Amino acid sequence: MLKNMIITIDGPAGSGKSTSAKLIARRLGFTYLDTGAMYRAITYLALKNNALNDLNEIIRLSENSKIDLSFIDGITKVTLNGEDVTSEIRSLEVNSNVSEVSAIPEVRKALVHMQQAIGDNNNIVAEGRDTGTTVFPKADVKIFLIASLVERAKRRLREFQEKGEDVSFQEIELNLSKRDKIDSQRVVSPLKKASDAIEIDTSNISIDEQVELILDKISEIAKLKGFDILLLKEVKS
Ligand code: C5P
Repeated sequence: MLKNMIITIDGPAGSGKSTSAKLIARRLGFTYLDTGAMYRAITYLALKNNALNDLNEIIRLSENSKIDLSFIDGITKVTLNGEDVTSEIRSLEVNSNVSEVSAIPEVRKALVHMQQAIGDNNNIVAEGRDTGTTVFPKADVKIFLIASLVERAKRRLREFQEKGEDVSFQEIELNLSKRDKIDSQRVVSPLKKASDAIEIDTSNISIDEQVELILDKISEIAKLKGFDILLLKEVKS
């Protein structure tokens, strides 16, 4: 019997990873693995416990926490040690600190381990910064999305406005470029395109075009590798 299929989608914040990964997982009937949500959950916990300056405590929290992800009505529901933290992990405060927390090697080790366990027996679409390089180096399909900083900031601004949050374009642009810098320059698992990943620039294409393009690549590779995938009809959330 053929092994389970693993698809990775990496790229910087705002490149369209999450939106496309969710839609692609749904069309394929695969499990969607939002690795960023895990780093956000640990950051939230560190903030809540006033432990941001205590490296050992952050490591302890990451090694002793139980993070459950489920995908309901188009969003990743995140349960951390039994507490629903779905909206808390998307705050600006978490945004501003998550790159520092995720640069800690021991935190990465603990979370990568949890991510690999999810990929052991499931067909998955994993989304993050290092899923094609470190978490699943043998993934069957690797996609790397990029987009200009201005376009990414515009997308994030729209998301905050939809949630009714008052954030300026400049603030978002600064947060994104700061995160890009930390994510790409860290020593362990930096944000980097895997040598065998397919790069797609999403600056000037719509989400629908992006999803169709990625699905075409997946179908092509699945055929070559002998995976029998079935595209489900698009379901509006
Ligand atoms: O994808 P998202 O914006 O939710 O990720 C939040 C942060 O988590 C990123 O800016 C990055 O610092 C970190 N992250 C990571 N490795 C991953 C996923 C996310 O370092 N695989």
